[in-house]
Amino acid sequence: MKAVAVAPGTRELRLIEQEAPRVTAPSHVKLRMLDVGVCGTDREICAFQYGTPPRGADHLVIGHESLGEVIEIGSAVSRLKLGDLVVPMVRRPCSHDDCAACRAGRQDFCFTGDFAERGITNLHGFMTELVVDDERYMRVVDPALRDIAVLVEPLTIAEKGLIQVDHVQQRLPWACDFAPGTPRKICHRAVVIGAGPVGLLGAMALVARGFDTSVYSRELAPNPKADLVAAIGAHYFSAQETSPEQLAEQVGNVDLVYEATGASAVAFEMMKVLGTNGVFVFTGVPGRKAPIEVDTDVIMRNLVLKNQVVLGTVNAGVEAFEAAIRDLTLFQQRWPSEVRALITARHPVEAHRDLLVGAPQGIKNVLSFA
Ligand code: BGC
Repeated sequence: MKAVAVAPGTRELRLIEQEAPRVTAPSHVKLRMLDVGVCGTDREICAFQYGTPPRGADHLVIGHESLGEVIEIGSAVSRLKLGDLVVPMVRRPCSHDDCAACRAGRQDFCFTGDFAERGITNLHGFMTELVVDDERYMRVVDPALRDIAVLVEPLTIAEKGLIQVDHVQQRLPWACDFAPGTPRKICHRAVVIGAGPVGLLGAMALVARGFDTSVYSRELAPNPKADLVAAIGAHYFSAQETSPEQLAEQVGNVDLVYEATGASAVAFEMMKVLGTNGVFVFTGVPGRKAPIEVDTDVIMRNLVLKNQVVLGTVNAGVEAFEAAIRDLTLFQQRWPSEVRALITARHPVEAHRDLLVGAPQGIKNVLSFA
């Protein structure tokens, strides 16, 4: 069976042949992988800046954004049946008794750092033909989502962030009161930094929740991403012609910033214009570059005088996966061609090298094993 793997020791990226996995526990399911997405994390792993092979292995099979079909089930599997389409979750818990998060099934908040992530840290991933794992890590999707369900995992990033924003904003009167039956008015304003898949999916999630949403990205408009942003009812601003201050003047009180680029310099400039009672959500992981100057007095004054919250979020639990599946269903009804346009192309596995180490192209590229 074919798999895409990196070998950090020899700094190689290769298509390897490996033995097919077997169902060895009653709670196991076997999946035939259909789609596997390529993301920034995969590209970092292939540049040997991130990622760890399983203990004792000299290579790591990559891939963590995926969709599979159940083709075999263990004797104790109760939630899944043959033919189900499922999106596997990424993180597996650490084994420490005193990790309250992992013991509660919230390994996305693991305290110890000894978790494993399929295709990233200590466990092989999904960029292969067959996968075996425990049924508890599988989230079922409706066959109507077959074409776009590979977007569930990248959408979970926004979903987990927004769940936390909802919790945080319980600290103040935050709910938007609209009289039933009246058109929905704009209540909160959000800025998304970055127009990659994580940013665009986040923008869709925000528009769907009634946020007046602006996407701030490098490229000048017109461009296909700016068109997509306009088509979902959000606004596009290019960092080449609009400063964060100018953006905030047009937006009004910036209630939420959803950072989705990993570009820390832009993010900290944007933090200066976060509004009163605003929340800043970081999701990107920047590479290590030279230190930059940041006006910490402005940021600290605003944090205090404007009741602001800054939070970072990584990985996702069951709740965020289920929210992503619900939202994707809604996006498909509301913006069928836009959500499909997020998937730039499907490629055979032989095309992996260009997508993983070549120049980035399009929005979301997918390897198809089906
Ligand atoms: C994945 C997460 C993972 C994170 C850090 C992201 O690309 O979507 O599941 O926790 O990388 O490894």
